[in-house]
Amino acid sequence: MSEARNLRKTTYRLYPTPKQAAALAAILRSHQQLYNAALEERIDCYRKTGRTLSFADQCKSLTALRAELPEWAQAANCSSQQMTLRRLDKAFAAFFRRVKAGQTPGFPRFKSLGRFPGMSFKSHGDGWRFTPAENWRHGSLRLSSVGQIAARGKARQGGDIRASEVLHRDGQWYLSLTLDIGQPQREREQDGALGFDWGVETFLSGVTHADAVVCIDNPRWWHSEKERVIALQKAVSSKRNKRSNRRRKAVRKLADARAKTARRRLDWMHKTTAKLAAQFALVATEELQIARMTRSAAGTMEDPGKNVAQKAGLNREILDTAPALFTSLLRCKVLETGGEWVEAPTRKLKPSQRCPKCWAVQKKTLSDRTHSCAQCGHTEPRDIASARVVLRWALEAEDTGREPRLYGAA
Ligand SMILES: [Zn+2]
Repeated sequence: MSEARNLRKTTYRLYPTPKQAAALAAILRSHQQLYNAALEERIDCYRKTGRTLSFADQCKSLTALRAELPEWAQAANCSSQQMTLRRLDKAFAAFFRRVKAGQTPGFPRFKSLGRFPGMSFKSHGDGWRFTPAENWRHGSLRLSSVGQIAARGKARQGGDIRASEVLHRDGQWYLSLTLDIGQPQREREQDGALGFDWGVETFLSGVTHADAVVCIDNPRWWHSEKERVIALQKAVSSKRNKRSNRRRKAVRKLADARAKTARRRLDWMHKTTAKLAAQFALVATEELQIARMTRSAAGTMEDPGKNVAQKAGLNREILDTAPALFTSLLRCKVLETGGEWVEAPTRKLKPSQRCPKCWAVQKKTLSDRTHSCAQCGHTEPRDIASARVVLRWALEAEDTGREPRLYGAA
């Protein structure tokens, strides 16, 4: 039986001394030169023979390439150099794939030092070793020919170190570690099930196996920051002269506000999804339909949102990506903690039209905020009813493709 692999990437910021930074830059330069030399070799070979070199071909000629490179490059980690050749090979594979698909992709390009992302390492211990500090908070990276480099950051969960990348971005150095966290263990008290749907009034409406309602509202700061971005948008569009200093300043302010709001929102989502994933062993929702989200954000026919046109842009930008982003974060965290993630087929199930008690389908318009069943009389808020349908489907239906299991049973 093969060992369970559950790989996760985590990033630490590296703090090299000036001397170490110079050594890192030298390694980066050697990889950039190798990449460009290998690209040249491919172009050259094709021009002369009409043949495309493979990754294996280039690994063979790596020895020759190493001899041609300066001495400090020859000292570099060989398997790491192969990874750089692999990166070029991937660039070519992507190029040919897109050509085949009838697109017109750009040919793989020579890379300047500034555009060269970094270098990869595999086999922990082969020229590099990361030693995490307590609880995987901070640590240090030992890199041959560079030394011991301080690293700051935190892995949410420790594991076996499988591979790493040393990345250079905006003048800073980062370490991206690939950890195998193994098969996660689930605590008994996390053994609940949740079904949820997106709301118009609330961000998320959910219901648990124990019939408890879980509603998540947008955080309090969300509305005021959204209004601020809208005001800044107005300020930009009121400055007609596109080259004026005042307009440039307003654009800058808007960009800063947007970035800040997006960061805060992402942070909030990480925290909220982590809490839900820790609480529930099964999470069910319907397949996300972007069209539906856009419509609900714009208000309803009877009650259109204020400044619909102006808000539409912002909604597309921040609001509408929220459910998709939230869903993918939650999905990742549920699976990481060993939980089950179930997506109901919206078209077939029609969660917003179906009665969670008697399963009858009853047409509703978007403005019907309450589910009131004509068959059995069951009445509750629309989003809760829809969440309940999804949950019931996930736990009871046979076409979910999952093994039936009892959730929340004492
Ligand atoms: Zn009913």
